[in-house]
Amino acid sequence: MKEIFRKAVPVLEKLEQAGFEAYFVGGSVRDVILGRDVADIDIATSAFPEEVKQIFTRTFDTGIEHGTVSVLEAGEIYEITTFRTEGTYADFRRPDEVTFIRSLEKDLERRDFTMNAIAMGLDGRFIDPFGGQEDMKKKQIRAVGKPWERFHEDALRMMRGVRFVSQLQFQLEADTYAAMQQNRALLANIAVERIAVELVKLMKGQAVKEGLKLLAELDMLPFLPGFQEKAPAVEALQNWHLEDLQEETVIWFVLVLALEPENVTSFLRAWKLPNKLIRDVAKAMKKAEKTVWSDYELFETGIETVRLIDYGHYVRTGKSQWKDLQARFLALPIQSRNDVQASGNDVMTWTNKTGGPWLKELLARLDQAIIEGDIANNPEEIKGWVKHVIN
Ligand code: ATP
Ligand code: MG
Repeated sequence: MKEIFRKAVPVLEKLEQAGFEAYFVGGSVRDVILGRDVADIDIATSAFPEEVKQIFTRTFDTGIEHGTVSVLEAGEIYEITTFRTEGTYADFRRPDEVTFIRSLEKDLERRDFTMNAIAMGLDGRFIDPFGGQEDMKKKQIRAVGKPWERFHEDALRMMRGVRFVSQLQFQLEADTYAAMQQNRALLANIAVERIAVELVKLMKGQAVKEGLKLLAELDMLPFLPGFQEKAPAVEALQNWHLEDLQEETVIWFVLVLALEPENVTSFLRAWKLPNKLIRDVAKAMKKAEKTVWSDYELFETGIETVRLIDYGHYVRTGKSQWKDLQARFLALPIQSRNDVQASGNDVMTWTNKTGGPWLKELLARLDQAIIEGDIANNPEEIKGWVKHVIN
């Protein structure tokens, strides 16, 4: 058993000793079978939330209404979810109610794809009622039960399916594919934040090109904000260097470069992204085509934005100047205004003037003079320079 599972064994043992069933489930079991890294593990149990809370000393009600209790065990936090079925799905997303049950098999039945519906017991044996291992051998993603019904219950599953194609380099099984084609419009009912999570995971995947191609092929683009009518851009994007996209800001910057929305900020706001990310991407977009940088421009733009812009060139052309730009930035006498050995207050004292727009302008000129080596970054030289410039 892998270390990450072994560490959690006492959690399962405690549940079993109290007379309940407990298993590893979900993505962690799928990934261990595939030999992929397992980031976090999910535990499912026949114990009801209140029962789980009696077994462990330190617990947190993370998602108790869905049956999830977090427990602290040997310095780690584990999420334990009670076996459950989901009631009716009136609005094509999330069930109206969940019902806690004692049957593992019924719990596995509510899961989206066969590869995600496998449980692993303490003995390391798999409980795999829907042939998930067989499908994984065939590298195929197949809905549990009737795909059409499953996507009707929760339309996000379609987006997850496409994301898994990219992540795992698998294919959609034929009936699953057909049901997605038929039900794609139900994506309109899904919160954009949840779609964004899947889109970002798709962009990080090994088979990102396949994932993007599928989004177009299944005609899902009209249900992604700002992707309507952008099939040609999405097709062009498939030929970019997308092989190691990791960071969310970079991913959204790349998407903006590809889709060229009329208004960058509105596009990103439609996806309900964090304000900082929106600001960072919008800032980089302003100079996205810049390839030649003076020292002062590097300083003024800031290394994070320069890095984003350089990555934008890399994804489109395969060429990056990052090493060089970074080295130049680090060699500058100052990396930020805070490094300047004189403050705005100093300047006002030396000049006997009160603050105003002139001050901001002067400080910018001062930065430039230091960066270009006209003066050294020490109070005496700066004072002399200021007096000279003001007179
Ligand atoms: P990842 O590796 O990205 O975390 P995951 O499969 O573990 O992928 P999670 O969102 O962590 O995805 O969900 C854990 C498990 O819960 C899934 O493996 C699946 O069994 C089940 N699940 C998650 N979302 C859904 C859904 N929308 N419909 C049905 N089952 C789901
Ligand atoms: Mg997971």
